[in-house]
This record gives sequence, C-alpha cells and structure tokens, in this order.
Amino acid sequence: MGKNTLQINPNTKHKLIRDSVRHFAETELAPIAAEIDRKATFPLAVIDKMKALNYFGLQVPREFGGAAMDSISTAIVVEEISRVCAAVGLCVTVHNGVAVYPFMKFATPEQKKHYLPQLASGAMIGAFSLTEANAGSDSASVETTAVKKKKEYILNGTKIFVTNGGICDLALIFALTGFDPKHPQSSVFVVESKYAGFLRGELEDLCGMRANPVSSLFLEDCCVPENNLLGKIGEGMKIGLATLDNGRIGVAAQALGLAQGALEAAMKYAKERQQFKKPIASLQTIQNYIADMATEITAARLLLYHACSLKDEGAPFGCEAAMAKLYCSQVAAKSTSMAVQIHGGYGYSKEYDVERYFRDAKVTEIYEGTSEIQRMVIARSMLSQLIL
Ligand SMILES: Cc1cc2nc3c(=O)[nH]c(=O)nc-3n(C[C@H](O)[C@H](O)[C@H](O)COP(=O)(O)OP(=O)(O)OC[C@H]3O[C@@H](n4cnc5c(N)ncnc54)[C@H](O)[C@@H]3O)c2cc1C
Repeated sequence: MGKNTLQINPNTKHKLIRDSVRHFAETELAPIAAEIDRKATFPLAVIDKMKALNYFGLQVPREFGGAAMDSISTAIVVEEISRVCAAVGLCVTVHNGVAVYPFMKFATPEQKKHYLPQLASGAMIGAFSLTEANAGSDSASVETTAVKKKKEYILNGTKIFVTNGGICDLALIFALTGFDPKHPQSSVFVVESKYAGFLRGELEDLCGMRANPVSSLFLEDCCVPENNLLGKIGEGMKIGLATLDNGRIGVAAQALGLAQGALEAAMKYAKERQQFKKPIASLQTIQNYIADMATEITAARLLLYHACSLKDEGAPFGCEAAMAKLYCSQVAAKSTSMAVQIHGGYGYSKEYDVERYFRDAKVTEIYEGTSEIQRMVIARSMLSQLIL
C-alpha cells in the first residue's frame, strides 16, 4: 500500500484484512471493472471466488459458516472492493448489510439454522426489497399486500430498484398485513426466488453501479410459507429501520472506497500529466484539491469507524450511521468530481476510471435514505437528546 494512501487501520487485524481484500480487488476486479460497467454485466465467476473467501458471510457467526468479523473489518472489506469496483461492493454490502443482518437480528432459531449457512456461503444471494413506486423516502406507504390463507401468505405487488434483484435467490419483501388506512402495518417476508408468483423485471438501465443487476420484482399471488415471516406480524417498520441503520454503515463504506479510489487515481494522474512543461501535481491549485480530498476522506473514515465501534459495543448507533452515510457519500460525490476535474477532458472519457467513479458515487447520496432523510434522522436523534 502506497504511503500516500493514508489508511487508518485501528489494529493489525484490520491492516491484514485491508491488504488481503485490496490484493483480491486489484487482481480480480480491476481488470474487469470498466468492461462490466460498460456492458452492464454481473461478474458471476469473480463472485464465486468471493463466496469462497467468505465475503458473503462477513458478520455471520462461525457456527453458521460465517467469518464473524467485527464491523470495522466488514466496512474495510466493502471499502476495498468499492475502491476498485463499487457495483460489486454494492452487491456485497446489500447482501451482508440489509439481507443477512436482519436474519441475525430477527430470525427464529429455525430460520437461522435453515438460511444463515446458505447466505454465508453465498449459495443464496440476498436482496432487501422495500421501495415501491409510491413508497420511497416514505417507506411506510408500501402497497404490496400479504394475506394469510391457511398456512401461507399470498403476496401481491411490485417492488422497484431492488439491488441484486436480477440474481437474488431470496428477497426480504415488505408487505402490508394491517389494512386500517389510519394505521397501516407492514411485515417482512423471506421470499425465495423459486416460489411460484415471484417474477423479475428487466434490469434497470442505470447511470452508475451498472454492473449490479438492479431490477424490479413482481409478486403475483406469490405463496410464502407462514414460517417465512421474519420477526412478528406488524414489525415491518421496526425491522426496516433497524436494518437501514446497519445498511447505512455499508453505504458509507462503499462511498469511502469510491472517494479513496478517486483520490489515488487523481494523484497518479497529476504526477504524470505535464502542462506548461511540468507535472500538474506541482501546481498549487491541484495540490489544494488533493489536500482537501485527503483531509475529508480521513475525516469520513474516522466517522465511519466510530459508528462501527458503537455498533460492536452494543451501543445505539443509528444516528452515527446516518452521519457516516451522509458525510461519506458527500465526500464521495465531491472527491470523484474533483478527480474528474484533475483529469481535465480525459476525466470525462471512459478511458479513465474516474469517469465511472463519478457516476457510481452519486447514488450513495440517494439509496438507503437520501441525504435529506439522513439529516432528518440525525436531527431527530439530536433533538430527542436535548434536555432544556
Ligand atoms: C441504484 C439503486 C439501488 C437501489 N436499491 C434498493 C434496494 O436494494 N432496496 C430498496 O428497497 N430500495 C432500493 N433503492 C431505492 C432507494 O432507496 C430510493 O430511491 C430512495 O430511498 C429514495 O426514494 P425515491 O427514489 O422514491 O425518492 P423520493 O422519496 O421521491 O424523494 C425525492 C426527493 O424528495 C426528497 N424528500 C422526500 N421526502 C422528504 C422529506 N420528508 N424531507 C425532505 N426531503 C424529502 C428526497 O430526499 C429526494 O431528494 C435503490 C435505488 C437506486 C437508484
């Protein structure tokens, strides 16, 4: 790792994890990242290698075949993959952060025994499916329904923007189970893609993260065994919010990886590119850009690891996860834009990785709660602690 990359590794274990994931990402993902973005294809062969490395069971306890990592290690894995290929980082963080995590937190012992080994090994890839046409930031407005019929729930509705949707083996579907218009109640269902009535839509033609198979999902009289209710009936909102608290740590890590990748690419280019008979890295203006990017990335990393530490201590971490997500995604958007600026016209060409980083970074300000929603979460938490 270059001296200029300014990594913070809270301990030796974290440094070893960073080095090993960086090696994997540079060997396996760097050669294909531009191509899978251009062709919008999901790299199944590399994903299989990642399964063997336990990247799909990052925090799953060892008894279920997982790597039982702490949260900083998990963030480092996502950060290092996203530093090279954020679309694959998205697959990993959604699977671990919002599909597997709620199993660990809310599943029954039987559900854990059945699903966690398959999720941890990557035999099943997971998705988290809350968003609908009329339920985005307002996640309480889901219209998908789940009606009990004997020993099954029958699900009907359309989910949109499902990360991993095109390839997932299992999706956590949020559906209405309480129909009083004044107090609608949702619940969460574990829906396997092999169930009758589970259909996938076309892949989204996205601006960035193009190698991730984001798609719609259609539930047409989809029969789900009653035992596949996650948590209790009516707990959809509670499970959704707790899961998103965790997922935001993952999006923050993804954004941070993008920002780091952009900084390194910009520094390399600035040292190589000659204008006015000297490298542009010798210009004060370019140095100022580099200094600002490096400072903000370091601050973002500390904020992220702080949220991770709180989570591992068992302390409330929702507010800090929202802060990390808000700040890391802003830093990613700004740093990737700055990296394009440092590359000049070439930065606007697909010849250079920063063009992809720039497109990939934007959505980190949008999914798992927009920046506006993060501010709402942070402000609510701060104001609720205020004692006058
Ligand atoms: C690539 C991609 C992958 C995704 N993956 C998933 C996934 O795996 N699972 C899933 O469930 N969803 C997923 N999403 C959906 C994503 O979480 C939503 O797009 C996001 O929550 C915003 O919802 P919306 O698009 O409906 O925007 P809206 O909610 O319509 O927001 C539009 C604008 O209004 C603002 N706004 C809305 N309400 C408020 C408010 N109360 N105060 C201030 N401003 C407000 C928003 O911040 C935004 O600027 C994904 C989206 C994308 C693009």
